[in-house]
Amino acid sequence: MRNYRQAQAELLHAIEKEQVVACQELPDVFFPEDWPDAQMRKRATEVAKNLCDTCPIKFQCLQAALENQEGYGIWGGLTPKERGNVGR
Ligand code: SF4
Repeated sequence: MRNYRQAQAELLHAIEKEQVVACQELPDVFFPEDWPDAQMRKRATEVAKNLCDTCPIKFQCLQAALENQEGYGIWGGLTPKERGNVGR
């Protein structure tokens, strides 16, 4: 059975292999819940999801977020609510 450390290590390895992914360059965009304004949260979510759609490690990222039960941020192109619905 995989665990948090395995999932995290695999994701970090994938990020290192790809050199750079969008969320490293624009971390604030990928945590829209931190924005105080609803319109900015909505816009940041849209931008983050679009960037995830072109990310070469989208699948690994989503898998790690699901295994780690990440409660915040956009991971693998999905919001926390959307991740909660995967596989149900
Ligand atoms: S899929 Fe994951 S690693 Fe790729 S940009 Fe989105 S949040 Fe970052």
